[in-house]
Order: sequence, then structure tokens, then C-alpha cells
Amino acid sequence: MSSASTTSSLATPVAELPGVGPERASQLARLDIRSVNDLLLHRPRRYEDRRHFKAIKEMQMNEAATTRGKIVAAGLKRWSHGTKSVFEIILEDGTARLHCRWWNLPFMQNYFQVGDDVLVFGKLNSAKPRTIDHPETEVIEAGEEISIHLNRIVPIYPSTEGLPQRWLRSTIARSLDEFERKIPEKNIGQNPTGFPGRAHAIRLLHSPEEMADVEIARRRLALDELVELQTAIQLRRKKLEASARGLPCSGNNKLIRQFLGQLAFQLTEAQTKVLREIRGDMGGAHPMRRLLQGDVGSGKTIVAACNALMALESGFDVALMAPTEILAEQHYKNFQHWLGAMDIHVELLTGSIKTVGNQPSLPTLKTRFSTLFIGTHALIENSFRPGKLGLVIIDEQHKFGVVQREKLLRKGVYPHLLVMTATPIPRTLGLTLYGDLDISVIDQLPAGRAKTKTFVRSEEKLPKVWEFVREKIAEGRQAYVVYPRLDEADEKSGLKAVTKEFETLQKTFSPHRVAFLHGRLRAEEKEKIMAGFHANEIKMLLATSVIEVGIDVPNATVMVVENANHFGLAQLHQLRGRIGRGSENSFCILVYSVKAENGDERLRALERTSDGFEIAEEDLKIRGPGELTGQQQSGLPPFRFANLQTDRGLVERARDFVRETLEKNN
Ligand code: ADP
Ligand code: MG
Repeated sequence: MSSASTTSSLATPVAELPGVGPERASQLARLDIRSVNDLLLHRPRRYEDRRHFKAIKEMQMNEAATTRGKIVAAGLKRWSHGTKSVFEIILEDGTARLHCRWWNLPFMQNYFQVGDDVLVFGKLNSAKPRTIDHPETEVIEAGEEISIHLNRIVPIYPSTEGLPQRWLRSTIARSLDEFERKIPEKNIGQNPTGFPGRAHAIRLLHSPEEMADVEIARRRLALDELVELQTAIQLRRKKLEASARGLPCSGNNKLIRQFLGQLAFQLTEAQTKVLREIRGDMGGAHPMRRLLQGDVGSGKTIVAACNALMALESGFDVALMAPTEILAEQHYKNFQHWLGAMDIHVELLTGSIKTVGNQPSLPTLKTRFSTLFIGTHALIENSFRPGKLGLVIIDEQHKFGVVQREKLLRKGVYPHLLVMTATPIPRTLGLTLYGDLDISVIDQLPAGRAKTKTFVRSEEKLPKVWEFVREKIAEGRQAYVVYPRLDEADEKSGLKAVTKEFETLQKTFSPHRVAFLHGRLRAEEKEKIMAGFHANEIKMLLATSVIEVGIDVPNATVMVVENANHFGLAQLHQLRGRIGRGSENSFCILVYSVKAENGDERLRALERTSDGFEIAEEDLKIRGPGELTGQQQSGLPPFRFANLQTDRGLVERARDFVRETLEKNN
């Protein structure tokens, strides 16, 4: 049996199955089911054990259960001129009666008749009389495939309007019978215990014998997904190593020594350790592909500078890309200050500034020295053509996609790559997202940093909060006030709200200067504001979350985040990293809106801990991986079965298995 023919039979469009007409096919397409394979992998959202029903008399408040009874009465009531209604059926099972109600869904009356045998799933919302509002129901019709819908653990599928659960269930069951033998086994290693074969797993998914089978099936199918992903990731890396030799970029340490000598501080042990790892890569046989993770303020920029110097003193150009103009400009200033004395050209390329300095930045210009190009996405554009690109550094990696990273790399011939992120990545995600990168961690902050205290407050307490901020400003400190990013949808109303807030703050804090920094300002305006804030002329900076990345003003020791509940924890942790950079104690006040239910609950984690990794794990638990991976651009496939929040063991197993397999086949 060739795998091509099995794959192709599973690729059969659902429209070709008996009983699936054009209308059903288009309903299935809404569920992303197009082929038999999609149908077989359609994952039930829950299961009902229909071997035993709960007697109506035994049903409890707040406890979901399945029961079964005959309809003894049904009726629709309307009021408010027919605009409001309730449809009710009363079931009887010999032990008691159960009322089921649907509010304002009058068409429900078309689905039930007195005398019908009905299955009901739900929780009582009142005990006298026993009532469930909006239960899930199925009417049992005579002559139907009883063995599919009854007397077993029955899958309940995600469905769509007009597509009956029972039709979907029958169709999947019949397709499984027909195609089960054609499901190809996938290699997941030598009979690992606890994992059924793939075809058997798919059988268990739709037809578990015990509830425990559901998880057994899911784990197998999840492992297949993860193995597939790991294969892609590791092959990419293999291909790179097979086709590319590393450029000789380890340098001779001369410039680095000079650079470190002029700093006012010593590198931390963690920074030194990471630099050693990087130096090894820069002189290695293959191009460096390294992720540098370090909490905000851990000093990644210095490490990047040393890394850049290795390439520069080896005679290669370096490109450093940052996600915002503000950050690119800040890096530019720092690097010029640090490296300017060393005869190294530092150039800035952003959307609004193409060239700084008098010479054109195009590499046709023959210079004696290597150049460090610093910029935003502008570096990806065609007009940027460095001469001899030896190293690409990407700051705040999670703000960029894999595609952008590759584009920048293609400006040279397999240059080295260092990507940096302050978003702590839980291990499972790291292996999945950055599986093709080596990982270095700066797990230590420079000594002598003051503490940042975090408080969670309701918005009703804002006047008190402002009073506190005013005191701090009177003591000479500066403050950030952060508003959630204005999203596309309500950018207008959002901007209006922040503008109003800005006017209020200006009044409240007069005569101190308050400025408003947001994404729509022109670059010069932004720069002017940043310069004013750096110079301590502007005392308070109101910003949408543009300050999330990179700004470094040690005298700013207070941060107020409004509507903090709109941010993810990891993001808030990043924001908070803007303060606590000097020797003064800092204060972060997270204000939640009272409209949000339990708005403060999540935020309390930030009061408790300042460990970025702990916070990332918490965020992953609460919000799933989306927030941490930087949306769709991460290149992660949508998983049907794998769960990055809980499947760490499977992720590691998949990685190890693929690694061993690829090594054997070498
Ligand atoms: P991040 O990792 O968030 O990018 P930065 O590189 O911006 O952090 O560093 C934060 C601050 O700490 C900067 O002002 C930097 O000069 C300072 N810094 C970096 N390394 C050290 C060190 N070893 N000792 C003291 N201060 C340091
Ligand atoms: Mg940084």
C-alpha cells in the first residue's frame, strides 16, 4: 500500500461522500472541514456517557448531567407585543418532571412534539420546579442508528448553524468505518508505551470505550502534530548547516576590550557567560542562530554591542533591527556614543530618516571601516544593501515575524544571527517557536538596582493615585502613564479617550509638563518629546504602549497603567521594566476598570512576583500561547490536538525523537 494512495483517499473532498450534498458541504467548510481527513480529525468538544442517564429526580443544581424523558407538554408564550417569548417543554422519565425553557427563540417549537423521546444535557437553574434554561437536546427518532447516538459514550462536535449534531455524528461514524484502514501510521518511534496507533487513536477519538480513552487518543494525535512541526524546524536547521559555512567573525577582542574599559560598570557574570557562548558561535563552522533571552533591564544591549564589535573588528558590517523608531534612535545614540571613538560608522535607517551623517548609506561607497547599520523595518527594504554583512541582530524579536527575519538575513551570505527578546518564553513554547535556535539566557540583573513595588488599584482610586504621583514628581522623579494600545477598530474613539485623559492630566499636574506620545506622531515630534523626557523637562509621559519596548530613563520611577486588565501579564511585566532602572525605588500602579469582572485577579500575580518566567507561565495558563508568540506571524501552525499550555512532555518527546531520527539518517 503506497502512502500516496492512502493520502489521496483521505484527501477525498467531503462533497464526494454519499449523503453530502452541496449545502452540507458548504456547512462543513464553515467548520474548516473540506476533506475526509479533516472530517476524521474533527475533534469533539465534549462527550456524553449515554450508557447511563441521570434520573430527573437525581439532577442537581450546578451539576451538568444528561437525562432522558418523554415530552408530556410543550408551549410557547409571547408578551411585549410579541417581541419577547419563552418556549417550554416538560419531560417526564418516571421519576420526576423536568422543564426546559428557551427564551426569545420561538422557532425552537418547530423541533419538538409531545410524545418525543428527548435527551437533555445541562444544569438545573431552579429546583422547584426542576428547570433548565437553554439545555442542549437531541430528539431520538425511531429507526435511527441507535448504536451511534445511544448506549455508548457519544461525541458532541463543534457544529454550525443548520448542521444537525446527529447528522454530523452519523457522517463521521460512517466515514470512519470506511476509511479507518486507510489512515497511514506515522513514525513516532519504537512503540512508545501509552500511545495507540494513529488509526486506533482516531477511532478512540470518535468512539471512546471509556472516558479515559479520549485523552489517550488526544495525546497520540498531539504527538503526531508536534513531530511534524519539529521535523520542519529541525530540517530547516540541518539544511542551513549543510549549505552554509560560518563567516569568520570572532574578532581579536581588541575593540571589545577598549569598549568594556570605558564603561562605568563591569559585566555581570550572566552577561559574560552569554558572550562566551556567542563568541564560540561567531568563530564556529556554521552561522550562529541564537536567541538571547533576558528580562527587561538585564543588559542585553551591551551584549549586542560586544557581539557587533566581534563582527566589526573582523571586517564585516552589522545590521541591528528594532521594532520602533524610538527604540532604533535610542540604540543609535547609545552605539554612536560607545563606538564613535573607535572609527566605526554607525548609521541610522528608519522610515523617516534614510541617512544620518553626510555620506550616502549605500554600500557602493567604499569605506575603510565596517559599518553598523541601525534601523527599523526600513532595513528590510530593497534600497538597503550592505556590503559585507556578517551579523544580523534583531531586538525584541517577538515583534517581528520569521519572514522579516529571513528577509534581513538574505541581505548577506549566511550572516550570523542574534535575536533578542525580553519576553520570557516558557520552555514548551521556546522549543516550539524557537526550535531552530540555540538559546542563551541572561538570568541575573546588574547589582545595585532598586526595587520596583507593584500595586493593583481600582480606577475609583485614581485621585489617590495621582496624588501619589504628584508627590514623587515633587521629589524630582518622573512618571509614565500608559494607556492600552489603540487598536484599528476603535482607534478614533480610543484616541479621543486618551486625548481627553491627556488634557485632564495636564490640568492636574500643572505647572509640571506632561507630554503625550503615540504612534501617530511624526518622527521629529516623537524625538522632541523623548529628548524632553530624557532631559527631565517633561515630568510625565502619557503613552500608548509604544514605551513597551526599550526606553531607558532611569529617573522615571513611577508608572501608572490605566485599564491594565486590557494587557497580558507578560506585556505588563515588560512595561514595568521601564522603571526600576536607577538607584531610586520605583512604583508601578496597575489600575483596572471596575467594569471588568474580577479585573484585578489576574493582575495580582504581578504584585506577587517580579520573575519574568513565572509571569510568562502564568500568562500561558490564563491566556494561551497567542499573546506570547506574537500573533499569527510566529509561523506556528494551528494545532487541533496539541496544547502548548500543558503538553511540555510531548513537545520534548517530539523534539528528541526527531533529533534521533535525523541523526540516524545522516
Ligand atoms: P535590556 O536587557 O532591557 O535591553 P539594557 O541593555 O537596556 O537592558 O540595560 C538596562 C540598563 O542597565 C542600561 O542603562 C545599561 O547601561 C545598564 N547595564 C547593562 N549592563 C550593566 C551592568 N553589568 N552593570 C550595571 N548596569 C548595566
Ligand atoms: Mg532592550
